[in-house]
Amino acid sequence: MRKILIAGNWKMNKTPKETVEFINAIKGRINREDLEVVMFPPFLSLTSALEAIEDTNLFIGAQNMYYEDNGAYTGEISPKMLTEIGIKYVIIGHSERRSIFKETNEMVNLKLLKALEHNITPIVCVGESLKQREELVTIDFIRMQIKIAFKNVPREDVKKVVVAYEPLWAIGTGRNASKTTAEEVCKAIRGLIADLYDEDTSESVRILYGGSVKSSNVKEYFSQPNIDGGIIGGASLNEDFINIVNFDI
Ligand code: PEP
Repeated sequence: MRKILIAGNWKMNKTPKETVEFINAIKGRINREDLEVVMFPPFLSLTSALEAIEDTNLFIGAQNMYYEDNGAYTGEISPKMLTEIGIKYVIIGHSERRSIFKETNEMVNLKLLKALEHNITPIVCVGESLKQREELVTIDFIRMQIKIAFKNVPREDVKKVVVAYEPLWAIGTGRNASKTTAEEVCKAIRGLIADLYDEDTSESVRILYGGSVKSSNVKEYFSQPNIDGGIIGGASLNEDFINIVNFDI
């Protein structure tokens, strides 16, 4: 049984003070032991966020990390730094990292391996552009992203990885993928992992959908057999996040 994971990706929003105010405002209204609810504030707000979630069943993750423990990498944050403050989740290869900051599939792979080495749960994002969808190469493109991301990941570690299907055309656009499209691609991703490893292994991997999820459409995604939760961007910044997390099963 795969536990549903709801990841709130705050992107570059909320100062440390705003982080604490927001978590204090919502924490008493979220109480789902059946779900894993993780919020991803900016790096500078992580410590305040960790303090604010004490005595709740919420978790805090990082939106990114580098693939070395330390060194001459100006502006980067290492997994060693994240684990020392108590971070147990990291988003890897978000489409904004790939498109704006030019992260390659090879970097995504190195980050994934490094997160596993440090026992941080990686949420690896994959997804096609609108052009790729229109050219009918969605699955080929995602196969390549998955294949490179999982390079050198041993079979026993695969179940620790979370994959997020985030079609680029649905992120921050208000144009969400239909439940059928989202399920189709998440099912294909599970199939790709089965091809790389085996069916039992692929059945243990959580696959999320992300792209304009709101409380009004969350249930249709989470009721799909191959969708095990979601990444929520815009709607994780306001009270709609409470309604998303408190969705009726
Ligand atoms: C995201 O940032 O990963 C995301 C899914 O954003 P939004 O929900 O705003 O589309």
